[in-house]
Amino acid sequence: MVRTRLNREGIEQTLGHLEHAGLLRTLRVMEGREGARILLGGQRVVDFSSNDYLGLASHPDVTAAVVDSLECVGVGAAASRSISGNHVLHEAVERELAALKGVDAALLFSSGYAANVGALPALAGPHDVIYSDALNHASIIDGCRLSRAETRVFPHGDLVTLERLLIEDQGKYDGRLVVVEGVYSMDGDVFPLRELVSLCDRHQALSYVDDAHGTVVLGRDGSGSADHCGVHGMVHVTIGTLGKALGVSGAFVAGSEDLRRFLLNRARSFIFTTGTPPALAAGVTAALEVARREEWRRDALWANVKCLREGLRGIGVPLSTDIPGHILPLVIGDSKRTSAIANELLAAGYLVGAIRPPTVPRDTARLRITVSAVHTDADLEGLLLALSGILPRVSSTPRKKEAR
Ligand code: PMP
Repeated sequence: MVRTRLNREGIEQTLGHLEHAGLLRTLRVMEGREGARILLGGQRVVDFSSNDYLGLASHPDVTAAVVDSLECVGVGAAASRSISGNHVLHEAVERELAALKGVDAALLFSSGYAANVGALPALAGPHDVIYSDALNHASIIDGCRLSRAETRVFPHGDLVTLERLLIEDQGKYDGRLVVVEGVYSMDGDVFPLRELVSLCDRHQALSYVDDAHGTVVLGRDGSGSADHCGVHGMVHVTIGTLGKALGVSGAFVAGSEDLRRFLLNRARSFIFTTGTPPALAAGVTAALEVARREEWRRDALWANVKCLREGLRGIGVPLSTDIPGHILPLVIGDSKRTSAIANELLAAGYLVGAIRPPTVPRDTARLRITVSAVHTDADLEGLLLALSGILPRVSSTPRKKEAR
C-alpha cells in the first residue's frame, strides 16, 4: 500500500481502489441542451440529473441577455471586484437578489463552493464554534475546516441535539454559528428553518442557511426555503446559487449591508479572484425576471413532482423520503449497483445521477432523480417505464428494505 500520492504509483493505486469500489468518477461529454433534452455522445437523452429545476439554463431570454451584454461589455471582468472588475451589472443583480431574499444586501461569488469556503472562514475563527448538520454539502464542510473554528456536527435535522449542544456550550466560545441547508441536495428535505431561527435567537447564534436548491423554487415568488418556512428575511446569512434553478452560474451571500461590506473585506474567495463576467450577472437578472413572470414554471414543476412521486409509488418503488420535494432520492446502498442502474437508464434514454460516497454517507449510494418544469408527461412516463423494467433486474436486495 503506497501512502503518498506524490508519485505515479500512488496515483495509479488510488485510481485502482476507486475503480474497484465502484467510486471512480468519469466525465460525460455533453454536446447540447434544450430544456430537459440533452445530446450526449450523439444520443438524445432526457435529463433527470441536473439542477435546472425551472428549465432556465437554455431559456431564450436568458441567453439573449447574456449575448447582448457580451456585445456591450465584453467577456471578462478583467480584475477582481475590489480593483477594477466591479460592474454596474454586478451591483444591479445584487440588489435584485437581496430583494428576493427580503434583506438589505447581497454579494456575488463565483460559485456556491466559493461562497461557503469564503463566508464561513470570514465569519468564524479559532475562538468560535460552528454547529453543522451532518448532511451538509462538501463546500460547507470545507468552509468549516478553513475557519479553524471548533466544529460540532449534529445529526441531520435533529433540533433537540442541536439545542442540547447550544446549552452545553453556553459561554465556552466567543461566538457561535449554526449552518444548515435550506433544501438538502441529496435527500430533498427542507430544514425546519422557523425552529432554527428561533433556536438561534434564543441561544445567541448566527443562523447561516445554504439555500442552493430552494432559491427561486420554494416560497412566495420563489424567494426560497426561509419564506417557505415562514421566516422570510429572518435568517442572518443566506447563500443562494445561480447555477441551479436560475440556470446561469455563480452564487451570492445575502444579509445585512454590514455583512456585505464585511465579506467584501474579509472573504478571501471574493477578494482574491477575478470578478464574475458581467454578462453572466445580466443573465441572472434576466433569469430572475423570467422566473417572476413565468409563474407557470413553478406550478409545472410541482405538478411534475406529484406525478412522478405517484408513478414511483405505483410501480412499487419506495422513495427514501416522504417530503414532496423536487429532489427524489432512491437509495440503493451499493455503489456499483447504483452505477449499473444509472447506466441502464442512460442506455434507455434517461440520465439520472448515480450519487456515491463521499457525496453521500457510506452504503447510501442512490439514484438522485431531479424533476424540472420542462419535463413532459411522456418524459415522466418513459422514466417510470424504464425504471420498472430495470430496477427489479439490477437490484438484488429487496427494494422495500432500502428506504432510509
Ligand atoms: N451548496 C450546496 C448545498 C450545493 O448543493 C452545491 C452544489 N451541489 C453548492 C453549495 C455548490 O454550488 P456551486 O455548484 O455553485 O459551486
